[in-house]
Amino acid sequence: MARLPPPSLPPDVLVLGGGAAGLMAALTAGRAGARVVLLEKTRRVGTKIVISGGGRCNVLPSVLDERVFVTDSSRRLMSRILASWPLADQRRFFEDDLGVPLALEPETGKLFPVSNRASDVRDALVGAAEAAGVEIRTGADVTALSPADEGWAATLRDGPTLSARTVIVATGGLSVPKTGSDGFGLRLARTTGHRMEPTYPALAPLTADLAPHADLAGVSVPDAQVRVPLTKGAFETAGGFLFTHRGYSGPAVLNVSHLTALGRARGDAPAVHVAWTDTSAADWEAALTEPGRGLVAATLRAALPARLADRLLADAGVPPDRARADLRKDERRRLLDALTAYALPWTGDEGYKKAEVTGGGVGLGEVNPRTMESNRQPGLFFAGEVLDAFGPIGGYNFFWAWATGRLAGLGAATN
Ligand SMILES: Cc1cc2nc3c(=O)[nH]c(=O)nc-3n(C[C@H](O)[C@H](O)[C@H](O)COP(=O)(O)OP(=O)(O)OC[C@H]3O[C@@H](n4cnc5c(N)ncnc54)[C@H](O)[C@@H]3O)c2cc1C
Repeated sequence: MARLPPPSLPPDVLVLGGGAAGLMAALTAGRAGARVVLLEKTRRVGTKIVISGGGRCNVLPSVLDERVFVTDSSRRLMSRILASWPLADQRRFFEDDLGVPLALEPETGKLFPVSNRASDVRDALVGAAEAAGVEIRTGADVTALSPADEGWAATLRDGPTLSARTVIVATGGLSVPKTGSDGFGLRLARTTGHRMEPTYPALAPLTADLAPHADLAGVSVPDAQVRVPLTKGAFETAGGFLFTHRGYSGPAVLNVSHLTALGRARGDAPAVHVAWTDTSAADWEAALTEPGRGLVAATLRAALPARLADRLLADAGVPPDRARADLRKDERRRLLDALTAYALPWTGDEGYKKAEVTGGGVGLGEVNPRTMESNRQPGLFFAGEVLDAFGPIGGYNFFWAWATGRLAGLGAATN
């Protein structure tokens, strides 16, 4: 049964932002017995949940490797926060508590709702929040937050002010601003004295000036291996790769874009090398030197989309009608490079407009990792993308949003 707070009583907890973290925070605080009002600037809550995973919502990863998360804050603090709600418990929460069964996509290791409908995830969270007595107000754009007598007062764009003992800032970062996240929480955190890590777009498609591969737009390979040499070692990731009109996308590209963005900001843009399949250079060499009368082009086309195969041949300076038996040593060497360490001529990225997440944000050392309460501003809590941590494609970013939302909800309710 819904337990709605009497309208005359002010809320205990205000949640700013109705995304993944805000919804989880609100429902957790409501279940912990607090009177909760969630303020969402746009006309709908959970917009990013609904567009996530291509409309299917990759709710969680099937395995959590915390080493893949990125933060400029203390990794020890990040680990503590990640460990607060283990993957198996999160999965159980969605399946058993919210009634959203999840299924594994074996080729990617991602968990999606069995229904493949992202809106089911949003609706289940909203339903559970409302059942816990949370009042959800949409079209409620918070323009300022200031200390009040016994807590905080939030000013809304259309006039009224709402006060509460505790406030959870779950307004997201700067990514895909058309969904409502325009950096309000980041500005608020900065102006209230919190140490911020510089922000940058992450999980963004790369661009290439003059679009040298525009003729391949739409061509994709399922298992590219992308490698970014770093000062110490290299960053490697594997997965889908897609040519776009302006550059490159797909999980394997998105997963390295934080390195290219950070490198570019330092004036030290890193190289990005692509192996188009998981075939090793030695195996490619064996295939290219196999006796017989076949064409080199046919060997490539057997493993790659024809347009990409032909382009790699041209880039390596190998004539399209070259027979394998006639492939010269220098041609073979260039072709092996093009197949296993293709230097991607990227020059930039699509920025926040298309970035799936924001890197940087409120330093993790600014919050109590048990409650997500600010160490500087008592009664102020942070959750989700506004904080300085993100993960690769694969459900890691929702894992972060659910975990930090839950901690903040519990912390703010019991404060
Ligand atoms: C296209 C796309 C696909 C994605 N797919 C996946 C996926 O499949 N799996 C995964 O793990 N991650 C995915 N992500 C990342 C994931 O969506 C985010 O990490 C997550 O949504 C962050 O949640 P959040 O609640 O912190 O922020 P947000 O989802 O950005 O929510 C913030 C909310 O706060 C509101 N708000 C902002 N300012 C104010 C204000 N001043 N007053 C009131 N309200 C305000 C905004 O309108 C918004 O609703 C995807 C992201 C994108 C863009």
